[in-house]
Amino acid sequence: MANLIDGKRISQEIKDELKEKTAGLKRQGIEGCLAVIQVGADPASTVYVRNKKRACEYIGIESRSFELPEETTQEQLLELIQNLNTDELVNGILVQLPVPDQIDENKIIQAIAPQKDVDGFHPQNVGALTSGLPGFVSCTPAGVIQLLKRSGISIAGKNCVVVGRSNIVGKPMALLMLREHATVTIAHSRTQNLKEVCRQADILIVAVGKPKLIDASYVKEGAVVIDVGIHRNEDQKLCGDVDFDSVSAHAGAITPVPGGVGPMTIAMLMYNCVQAMTR
Ligand code: NDP
Repeated sequence: MANLIDGKRISQEIKDELKEKTAGLKRQGIEGCLAVIQVGADPASTVYVRNKKRACEYIGIESRSFELPEETTQEQLLELIQNLNTDELVNGILVQLPVPDQIDENKIIQAIAPQKDVDGFHPQNVGALTSGLPGFVSCTPAGVIQLLKRSGISIAGKNCVVVGRSNIVGKPMALLMLREHATVTIAHSRTQNLKEVCRQADILIVAVGKPKLIDASYVKEGAVVIDVGIHRNEDQKLCGDVDFDSVSAHAGAITPVPGGVGPMTIAMLMYNCVQAMTR
């Protein structure tokens, strides 16, 4: 049976470290403030936003909420972002995605000042990651690196397969594993012989958005399996992109869903907020 990689415990550990850090910064007169913008009232987004605000409260930074109506125009949103970019009291800006169809997501991401882009989505931060320069790193992949490191799993020299190539998870994930000296393969929907590719992995990271796509037949005996996917099944229970019951029987270590990668995303958002305070 695989060892369980406990994202709940590790994310709590990180938030406690950050709480201490913000207390120290406060004593030096440095305050944190994250602006959280939500356009429309998508229920999943509302839950994410609420959890982010709670995490801010926990670590001791202010969160300023902007709840905009569904029909908000792109110009209105851009204007708000411009105001927040120049507001010296705000050090992080987050626009909860997805935004409604009348708004171009890329334009919004590019409008956020890179030094306040705590989601790490701005092309300048993505470029910095690619070139090995300092910048904000996308929270979910950064969380996966922390999960591995804090579970004592070594990365250097290992064969890593990342399944998925999205801008927010797959691509930055692969770059981070490369930065940690893994030998990295990126697989996607056009990959041939996916099963064989995955079976080469010492560390298999799955971010495809397909419930239980990866079963034991994709996994090498003893491999580390990280499941980024989140889905709700017919019974409203959460599951991932990995078939946990089948894979956990022969993987070396595995993240559960829930309680694996999910809580790490918010912990790393808080990490980025504290970085933004100290710049
Ligand atoms: P996207 O839909 O943006 O990307 C999915 C990727 O998977 C694409 O690159 C796609 O390939 C690839 N893919 C789809 N089907 C297959 C297949 N059958 N075989 C191989 N590759 C396939 O998703 P995201 O990256 O945004 O998210 C992935 C999952 O992670 C989702 O379940 C999402 O909910 C979850 N998620 C969880 C987070 C957390 O905090 N835990 C945060 C963000 C996401 P192609 O490019 O060729 O289309």
